[in-house]
Amino acid sequence: MAEKFFSKLKCRECGRTYPAQAIHVCEFDFGPLEADYDYKAIGSVLTRKLIESRGDSMWRYRELLPIEGEPTVGKQVGFTPLVKADRLAKAIGVKACYVKNDTVNHPTLSFKDRVVAVALSRARELGFKVVACASTGNLANSVAANAASAGLESWVLIPADLEQNKVMNSLVYGTNVVGIEGAYDAVNRLCSEIAGKYGWGFVNVNLRPYYAEGSKTVGYEVMEQLGWRIPRHTVVCMASGSLLTKIDKSYKEFTQLGFVEKSPFVIHGAQATGCNPISAARKGGTDLIRPVPHPKTIAKSLAIGTPADGYYAVKSMSRTGGWAEDATDEEIIEGIQLLAETEGIFAETAGGVTVACAKKLVETGKIPHDEEVVLCITGHGLKTVEALSGHLGSPSKIKPSLKDFDALLSSKLVKGHAKV
Ligand SMILES: *Cc1c(COP(=O)(O)O)cnc(C)c1O
Ligand SMILES: [Zn+2]
Repeated sequence: MAEKFFSKLKCRECGRTYPAQAIHVCEFDFGPLEADYDYKAIGSVLTRKLIESRGDSMWRYRELLPIEGEPTVGKQVGFTPLVKADRLAKAIGVKACYVKNDTVNHPTLSFKDRVVAVALSRARELGFKVVACASTGNLANSVAANAASAGLESWVLIPADLEQNKVMNSLVYGTNVVGIEGAYDAVNRLCSEIAGKYGWGFVNVNLRPYYAEGSKTVGYEVMEQLGWRIPRHTVVCMASGSLLTKIDKSYKEFTQLGFVEKSPFVIHGAQATGCNPISAARKGGTDLIRPVPHPKTIAKSLAIGTPADGYYAVKSMSRTGGWAEDATDEEIIEGIQLLAETEGIFAETAGGVTVACAKKLVETGKIPHDEEVVLCITGHGLKTVEALSGHLGSPSKIKPSLKDFDALLSSKLVKGHAKV
């Protein structure tokens, strides 16, 4: 590439710049480092037309992602469907609803493939041979799969009590899976120590500035798929809070580049009641995040007690006039079922959180009935099936005989279940 669109990192607090190496905090104030772009150079090259002419992956926005050469890992990630969800809109009581469906993101069925594609492409540019992560499940799946396809050695560290399918979905790729007896915060602390001692590329520790930018592609795609405009309301589930802040950033960047018209937008956050440090701060009218030492929720992918980007997520919500909600385990399961029964989309527990919280935001008037909302549905339901066990009933069982089927049908008709 002739032009240089990205060449350094910048502290979010003091603005000091740093070389684009595997570093993530400012030495002066411990502020997080963020990729810094030359928007003038990008604006002189990138157009809507050029983007539209490219392949259906997140890399169609390549100039706005922090790598220097061409992507080498996760080349097919992204460009998932934006589903016009009319039946869900009716059920939750809004004029229009869209589902950004990252349950079908390639290759590991969650939005984490986006962040990993950027982090591992950058890890290769920086010369790492071993990559790793601290994960609540989905990140581990994605690092394992994408590292396997890139021929990189990988280590994924997770809380030992994760869902079985999430564990299997890491093991199958031949990665090194380490279950830690403790919550995510303990896993994360250990990973910082390992990164320091062994010099591995931890996608969400020392490579975090690159990793985090991958989430912007969710927002870019939503705007392009809406016909190049910003949605009025967006509901985002939060673990560290990074995805929410990066969707905010994507809307601002496209406005600045003139790809969308400047228009007011509102970003709302969603968490589980059993681990709601960011939602609680927003509801309490403070940007002080009070850690949750012992998360207790079926939404394990969101269970981060000390969220790294919580402070900035609260800022994004308050600046845009957004609110936050949280959902109990019961409400999460109802949210999963509502999305499945209205739109035929099976989301993991985090998706149940988004749907349940969106419903509450409409009920409380934070999302007015006559406005539109985009729901970020971030992972597939087959990853967290145990959350539903005991909640869906079981199949009717009969002999292979028409008589038995007739009897079954009439019993269902009596109960009012079947429609003939
Ligand atoms: C990681 C994750 C999120 C949110 O991640 P942030 O840390 O807030 O960026 C949302 N949904 C799912 C399914 C996840 O795995
Ligand atoms: Zn600084």
